[in-house]
Amino acid sequence: MNTAVEQEKSLRSLSELAEAGLIGPERLTALQDVAARYAVAITPEMSGLIDPADSADPIARQFVPDPAELNTEPVESSDPIGDGAHSPLEGIVHRYPDRVLLKLINACAVYCRFCFRREMVGPGRGALSPRALEAALDYIRAKPQIWEVILTGGDPLILSARRLARVLDELAAIPHVKVTRIHTRVPAVAPERVSTALVRPLRAYIKKDKACFVVLHVNHARELTVKARAACARLIDAGIPMLSQTVLLRGVNDDAQTLGALMRALVECRIKPYYLHHADLAPGTAHLRTTIAEGQALMRTLHGRTSGLCQPSYVLDIPGGFGKSPIGPSYLAADGSTIEDFNGRRHRYPPRHNLPSARTANGARADDGI
Ligand code: SF4
Repeated sequence: MNTAVEQEKSLRSLSELAEAGLIGPERLTALQDVAARYAVAITPEMSGLIDPADSADPIARQFVPDPAELNTEPVESSDPIGDGAHSPLEGIVHRYPDRVLLKLINACAVYCRFCFRREMVGPGRGALSPRALEAALDYIRAKPQIWEVILTGGDPLILSARRLARVLDELAAIPHVKVTRIHTRVPAVAPERVSTALVRPLRAYIKKDKACFVVLHVNHARELTVKARAACARLIDAGIPMLSQTVLLRGVNDDAQTLGALMRALVECRIKPYYLHHADLAPGTAHLRTTIAEGQALMRTLHGRTSGLCQPSYVLDIPGGFGKSPIGPSYLAADGSTIEDFNGRRHRYPPRHNLPSARTANGARADDGI
């Protein structure tokens, strides 16, 4: 299988990072255990963005290993979102009734220091074998309630165009699968991968009256380089709508200006911000996590300062595998009596229209006539 990104000049070892000036030689020993435990890869597109003189560089913080990754907190888990509890067979996670994850490959173009699947992904972890892929497709074929398939991993866009085409052809032939979503970092971190050949199978899929969305994982506006924007435009111009997902990360995007700039940059690229993830309880990631209260305060500021197009949904994947839930903030008072506006001022809302619509035995609302 051609996973071309694996062969390119990405930085993959501590010595390569040191040679590139991204870690000082004095840190090599301290980082050896980190690199032995968690995969390292930084593509040229991303390493070129890092300012080695800036110890707080937000791109470096996402990809350059840190000794703090060896500190695992008791609440952290190797499977923080409970994929294992919903995996009936290799490659499938079936958590919600109408959709499944199809994990095609457990390798990525870059390895993020906060990855929620960091214990499962790494170079050489490989793609699903042909037999496992066929079994996964059989599972999807046999379940008419599956309306949407989410291609993930790892990063499915490091697969060859030929392999991707084969999977999309199979999915297109399943009548009940109407939508395929592709979760990827590739258009930003390895934009050269988004070639005409790679776009072709996605285009062929939508020509068969199916919908295909590409969801870009991006955490800082600087990741949207000229080449990344061009890669996204190639997808969008081919008729593939794009959404984004961002992980809220301390020291990367946990201030209103940075987060707002990212959301605006996405919309300018015709990418609709979709999710802002509260960082998962992955092992060794406490130094990168914010509190939920901090995330809610940031969302409030976004709401107050930026267009509705720039508003993602702030979500938490409930530990244990119980799925995602939006985590606010809520603008409506708990009793429904007031609502907060974008300036933080509260306004009354008529009680008759905010009480629960309890109905009596004869069908009248309990509050009728109040
Ligand atoms: S690209 Fe996604 S799956 Fe790969 S390391 Fe980053 S967060 Fe994990």
